[in-house]
Amino acid sequence: MELMGKDDVMVSSTVSKLKEYLSEIKKNDQNGKRINAFLHLRDEKNLLHEAEEIDRKIKSGKAGRLAGKVIAVKSNINVQGEIASCASHVLENYKAPYDAHVIERIKSEDGLIIGMTNMDEFACGASGETSAFGPTKNPINLDLIPGGSSSGSAAAVAAGFCDMALGSDTGGSIRNPSSHCGVVGIKPTYSSVSRYGLIDLSMSLDQIGTLAGNVPDAGLLLDVIMGRDEKDSISQDSPKINLNETERIPKDITIGILDFEIQNNEIKNLIMKRIKEAVKKYGWKYKNVKIENIGLAIETYYPLVYVEFFSGTRKFDGRRYGRKIEDAAGEEVLRRVLGGSEISKEEYGGRYYYRALKIKEFIEKEFSGVFRNVDCIVSATVPKLPHKIGTNISVREMYEYDALTTPSNLAGNCSVSVPAGEINGIPVGMQIICDKFKEQKMLQIARAFEKLK
Ligand code: GLN
Repeated sequence: MELMGKDDVMVSSTVSKLKEYLSEIKKNDQNGKRINAFLHLRDEKNLLHEAEEIDRKIKSGKAGRLAGKVIAVKSNINVQGEIASCASHVLENYKAPYDAHVIERIKSEDGLIIGMTNMDEFACGASGETSAFGPTKNPINLDLIPGGSSSGSAAAVAAGFCDMALGSDTGGSIRNPSSHCGVVGIKPTYSSVSRYGLIDLSMSLDQIGTLAGNVPDAGLLLDVIMGRDEKDSISQDSPKINLNETERIPKDITIGILDFEIQNNEIKNLIMKRIKEAVKKYGWKYKNVKIENIGLAIETYYPLVYVEFFSGTRKFDGRRYGRKIEDAAGEEVLRRVLGGSEISKEEYGGRYYYRALKIKEFIEKEFSGVFRNVDCIVSATVPKLPHKIGTNISVREMYEYDALTTPSNLAGNCSVSVPAGEINGIPVGMQIICDKFKEQKMLQIARAFEKLK
């Protein structure tokens, strides 16, 4: 069924779209062996009722900016009345008692939340395999990992189960699965989106962000959720995103090409090919840039995450929320809890955590310096292709997936992954990093790359 939208464009009704998504999900997600992108769908009756309500608002011209959009939410974000399990047995029965700030904003703009997505347990992982409820599969190739930790959110968008999704990104968890699944994923500037209602992995690095099939949709959802919220004291207002402006190809862009050796030449060449196409078509320039400490990003990121995660999980002592984390969590979560407790011990004081904070500061300064000379920094999002689900890889190898995404979390700037093409049918993402609060420029550049196709 088609009806007229508020700008007199033909849009399909929210109800019919919802029904299509639900039937796709039943066919391809929930029958056991398939994608496993969702952990819980919302009650179908309520969904239909809300969709009808939204369609009525569209007809009367009173609908919000997300009317007609169906949105999936990562299971570490509180949606009132829904299970926010963090894909863990620890919280498997935890019903969120309130809405996260981002959810309030989505609801106030008439976005329809369809369900809660699978993820690496407590967002600890880069493959989607550490979920206590089974791995998510890559919709493009069911044998492969979809990436993580926002595995279900990226897979849900790629599989055509929703229009958009929310994820969280501490060291790459939105951009990494976006890259492997061939969708767009944005990690906004640190503090530009309220973290109120996010079950944290690492407070000084976490950021909620958006995933969608294209830059305008990911940008629209981001614009809705961005902005100061008094319940997250570090959150601040940032410039609004103008969606018309996003369509305009920016002039005089200088791309910084990150001097970082990656082993996979095919990935390297594909990214370079796209950059050269953009340079030729849009008259942009490029030059090589160096972030001296980038090789230390993983070594800096993990001590911070271990310590902050350990401290954040002390509330999961089996009294107030679900089960005691030490009794019910999987291997990767326990590694971080135990590792974090070791590093936090007094005898190590200053050796790991504070040193890591220092290097974080260096990296932040280096990025600011580079952004005086270039508009954006471009690289691959992930330095390697996704492995087969269940492959026995070392912890080190798993952590190496994050080599190119963690720097942007350490620096606190904004970054996005956009599809750059495919290698043997596997999607490969390009990462565009911009200076803090330069989301508008970043989205324009990303959109220009998207239009090359
Ligand atoms: N893969 C990284 C980790 O395991 C990133 C996780 C994330 O961004 N939530 O910590």
